[in-house]
Amino acid sequence: MNLDYKRLGLKVGLEVHQQIDSDEKLFCACKTKLFTEEPQITFLRALRPTQSELGQVDAAAFFEFQKGVKILYEASHDTSCLVEMDEEPPHELNREALEAVLVVSLLLRAKPVDEIHIMRKIVIDGSNTTGFQRTCVIALGGLIKLGEKPVPIQHVGLEEDAARKMGGKGNLRIYRVDRLCIPLIEVTTAPVLYTPEEAEGTALAIGKILRATNRVKRGLGTIRQDLNISIRDGALVEIKGVQELELISSVVRNEVRRQLSLLTIRDELAKRGVNPNGVEEEFQDITAVFRKTKCKVIREAIDNNKQVLAVNLRNFQGILKTELTPSIRFGTELADVARFWGRVGGIFHTDELPAYGITQEEVHALKRATNAGQDDAVVFVADISENAVDALKAVTMRAKEAIKTIPQETRVAKPDGSTRYMRPRPGSARMYPETDIPPIQISHEYLQRLHKDLPEMPEHRLQRLMHDHGLNRKLAKQVSNSEFSNLYDTVVKNSEISPTLVAVVLTETVKALKRDGVEVDLSDAQFLDLFRLVEHGKIAKEAISDIIAWLSKHRGATMDEAISTLGLDTLSLDKMENLIDTLIEKNRHLLVERGEKAFGFLMGLIMKRVRGKVDAEKVSNIVKRKLEDVL
Ligand SMILES: [Zn+2]
Repeated sequence: MNLDYKRLGLKVGLEVHQQIDSDEKLFCACKTKLFTEEPQITFLRALRPTQSELGQVDAAAFFEFQKGVKILYEASHDTSCLVEMDEEPPHELNREALEAVLVVSLLLRAKPVDEIHIMRKIVIDGSNTTGFQRTCVIALGGLIKLGEKPVPIQHVGLEEDAARKMGGKGNLRIYRVDRLCIPLIEVTTAPVLYTPEEAEGTALAIGKILRATNRVKRGLGTIRQDLNISIRDGALVEIKGVQELELISSVVRNEVRRQLSLLTIRDELAKRGVNPNGVEEEFQDITAVFRKTKCKVIREAIDNNKQVLAVNLRNFQGILKTELTPSIRFGTELADVARFWGRVGGIFHTDELPAYGITQEEVHALKRATNAGQDDAVVFVADISENAVDALKAVTMRAKEAIKTIPQETRVAKPDGSTRYMRPRPGSARMYPETDIPPIQISHEYLQRLHKDLPEMPEHRLQRLMHDHGLNRKLAKQVSNSEFSNLYDTVVKNSEISPTLVAVVLTETVKALKRDGVEVDLSDAQFLDLFRLVEHGKIAKEAISDIIAWLSKHRGATMDEAISTLGLDTLSLDKMENLIDTLIEKNRHLLVERGEKAFGFLMGLIMKRVRGKVDAEKVSNIVKRKLEDVL
């Protein structure tokens, strides 16, 4: 389906969050890495916003607080300390992280503020042990170009990353605090992106600038985009956590399609004469209907003394199975709000029944019990009474909204580009000053110093690699985007070795090795050493791949060990000439017989013995010369 996004009045704004590759966290000296082992420390907390903050807490968070949600935090010693546990005040702001954000700000032509004020943004979903996130504005009002289109940058900020969610059940949530307090750059654009492609293109351009600083982390999970998306007749919806830049256009397309589908549902309900005030808010206990059910979920619930509660959505027949976007139906939206507000596993509804072991007879009985007719849809849940009531309240609330409008909400992006309900959009007044850390001045001199030493902008770098180094466009792009971009510069600057060879090794060779399952793990010094040996003819360039693989598999081993173990010492010219002479002598008859084909034949014989130890071109020159004598 091709949509005219401009006619629909699509507007997208981006918030790019990128982890900074600093040694330490934003407000303590802990390492900025994640751990995969079993946690060394765990501690349990309850959500507990203080009195003075309650006025600013958003409804969803406060609701959870009332329901007594508990949080289990997991930690390790080198990635967290008392600061992450909120047992000790934050230390000074990390200057390495601050400088990274200032560099990004200057590259984006944003104006740094004179004085940085750290603020607390209330977040009480448990992703932060303090109940708030520390954040600060570093610069305002930048600009980037997307082709000819200017895209204003609203602000560039520095903030702490949140703890990462590891799971949970019922009233318990599990978070890992290794990620908590890792410094994040936040870049916000104005909502002036009018097509899915513009949104993705802008995110890619910002991503390139961030990487050009060489001060940011790489890999999945280190960059996350939030999107604010609206269409003229729809609503402003915030989509969080898009992890891959290449996914952005699909996320935008899906959201537009979802909003258009919701508008169609609204119009259909109006046609059926459904009125928000007519939505039933009385829930029937229909446990008796399922006394003998074969449906596993309901069977288990009833065996555990839970209830089955139902609500009749009058004139909603068929609406719940209406597809909003591929894999998401209106029923999915109802199920998601029920999960969020009612802590239930999911909902059942008559648009998808009989199924899941629920029989036609049970559906009839259920409809009789709820007084539902042909045009109605019945939604029911099986859980403890409190959860079931909360879930059905959320379902009827969402049904009422569907009759009137599209709700403003926060959604979370899934890896396939679809989105799911996360929570209502939080209110805006959620910030107050951080009193533990004094304001920080940014001096004019400091900024001037940074200005003089700004990294190259990505487009400029690309041109330079092509024109000055003779790389083709593809290779130049690969090098620019590679994690070895800096190393490439150092090698080329300090040696006579061909830039193309360096670029190929650092991108394609490394990629090929990774594809073969080699976890490439060489230090910059080892790479430099390797290229120096090639430059001085100590090893052949054909041997590079084997050496990288060997060193990666033998951590701590030296280059000499690699070369001698692999038998890659280059043959001296004398030895090589001797070898060639011997082979010619042995095969003189065959060579004469083969005439013009003798060269290939002889090269084959030689390379079989010396591959990786000599430069094939050198061998070929000697072989040509010697063969001329023979033939
Ligand atoms: Zn710490």
